[in-house]
Order: sequence, then C-alpha cells, then structure tokens
Amino acid sequence: MALATPRVFSGIQPSGELHIGNYLGAIQAWVEIQHRYESFFCVVDYHAITVPYAPPELRTRTHEAAVSLLAAGIDPSVATLFVQSAVPEHTELAWIFNTITPLGELERQTQFKDKAQRQESVAAGLLNYPVLQAADILLYRADSVPVGEDQVQHLELSREIARRWNARFRPDSPYFPEPKALLTPTRRIMGLDGSGKMSKSTGNSVGLLEPPDDIWAKLRPAVTDPKRVRRTDPGTPEVCNIYHLHKAFNSEATVELVAERCRTAGWGCIECKQTLFEGMERTLAPMRARAADIRSRPGHVEEVLGDGAATARRVARETMREVKAVMGLAAEAGLRPHRP
Ligand code: SF4
Repeated sequence: MALATPRVFSGIQPSGELHIGNYLGAIQAWVEIQHRYESFFCVVDYHAITVPYAPPELRTRTHEAAVSLLAAGIDPSVATLFVQSAVPEHTELAWIFNTITPLGELERQTQFKDKAQRQESVAAGLLNYPVLQAADILLYRADSVPVGEDQVQHLELSREIARRWNARFRPDSPYFPEPKALLTPTRRIMGLDGSGKMSKSTGNSVGLLEPPDDIWAKLRPAVTDPKRVRRTDPGTPEVCNIYHLHKAFNSEATVELVAERCRTAGWGCIECKQTLFEGMERTLAPMRARAADIRSRPGHVEEVLGDGAATARRVARETMREVKAVMGLAAEAGLRPHRP
C-alpha cells in the first residue's frame, strides 16, 4: 500500500563537521526536499564502525555532524533528524535481509571491492554494509532516496532486496516499496588540491563552519588551471575547480564574468578567488551564526536527536511488527501481535 505523503530517507556518515562537498552534494538538496516530502534524515553511525575507529571520537563526530546539519538548514519541525544506533530496528531488519541476500551480490559491490583492497583484514560488516543500507531505507518504507552517483548501485540492491522479500513473504500484496532515486540538482565537488573528491581526511576540504580566515588560508593556494602560470596567461575556466565552485556559490552573471575574465587574462587568480570567497561567505556566514546559536543552547542537539529517534522508532517498530508477523517471528515484548 502506497503512503499518502511521499517519504524520503537519506543518511550521512558522522564525519564531524561537514564540508562544502557534503553540502553541495547532498545537504543542500535535503534542505529543499524536507518541505516536499516526509523526510527521515539519519546520521549513520552503524555504517561508520565498519572500518577501524576511536569510540570517543565517534560520539563527538556524530554530535558535530548533527550541529552542521541543523546549521545548514535541516529543520526539525518539518524533518525527522536522528542517529541510526538510537533506533535498534535498523540492525534487526538488516539481519532479516541478510538471510535473503545472496553472498555473490554483495561481493560484486564496487564500494566493497574498493574498501576491501585497502584493508589487511576485512570485517563481515563491510561486506554487509549495503544490506544495512537497504534496511535503513525500507524500515521507513521510503518511496525515494536522494543519492549520489556512487550510491546508485547500492540503491539497486535495496530495490532488489525489497522485491525479493515481497516475493517470498507477501507475493499477493507487496509490503515494501521499491525506492526510487530522487534526482536532485547536486554537485560533485573536487578537493582544493585538485587531486580528487573533497574529503575531510585528505585535508582538501572547506568546513561548513570553518572561520573565514581559515577558509581564505586554504582558498588562496588552491589549485587552478595548471596552464595559467603568469597573470598575463589566458586560462580555461572549465578545467579549473575554482570556476566550478563559483557556479555553486555565485550568480550566473558572476559566473559568466569569471569565465570571460579568465579566458582574456582580465584578472589574476587571487582576484578570482576573492570573488569566490565573498560568494561563499554569503552562504556560510549565516550557517556559522546558526551553529553558534545551537551551541549556546545546552542540550538542544540531544533534544532534537531524541525527539527524532522517538518519531523514527514509532515508524520502525510498526514496520518490524508487520515484518515479524508475516515471517513467523516473535512480536516485541509489550507490542500487540499482528492478527491477519
Ligand atoms: Fe581558475 Fe579563476 Fe584562475 Fe581562471 S582566473 S584559472 S577560473 S582561478
């Protein structure tokens, strides 16, 4: 049965303070989506423990990720924001899905192959990561998932798991919807060193809440068109990461001006970066102000996440009640068993 209001689920790893790549690649779209869909946004800490980590740091990073999301515009009065490990039904449903997912399908996942190659010992959790991802989405019976390009394969696996479970346990009235990719105008942002995707761990990122002086200290030496060596050399904006950042933070008119001045050597790269910095500040300064306000209210983040987890759990428990009843499993203590 389709839900009356379309529902989305999306998760983000607790990598601490988010960076502009996270914002432009996902969060900006979430902020817009939350007004059109019933939205469940989750800090996925169970996913973060599939690789080695330090427990005290994880708690801090989870908290900081929540501060960044709220500062970026996630509104807890319209969206449900919570931490994955506060809703135990995620792992409960993941176990059930593990029992119907062929091993070969998991071993073929590109992200598993990439990550496994980089580690001496591979935990089973890394292999089963996409099954937990399917449980994250299907627990809320989400219709749509805003995904980046690198997540499309995982979403296909979630769809396959939904199909397989429905065919096995509810062939006449499918229970889980097959979640669709929600196409949102997101951008894949390169790191300031030009060496690959922006990432906090490689130090090539700009934090959403970073002080302006620190941002400029990173922006000033950032890689540009490598063929533009002298101020008098004309450049090719399309090959320059700074130009693509202008598109994210400045108006179309400014972007056209940047391209024209670059091609004609009408200005130097430092002037170009100053204009970018001003555009970035128009977006980032209000976020810093919101973060300062959030931090000045003790317990506010915990309260938001607690309320979010309670809302998420109400939906999750109902899903598990249905799933367990159909599969012949025991009902949770205190919950009324399902009577068909
Ligand atoms: Fe890049 Fe701007 Fe320099 Fe052109 S002028 S190479 S767009 S930084």
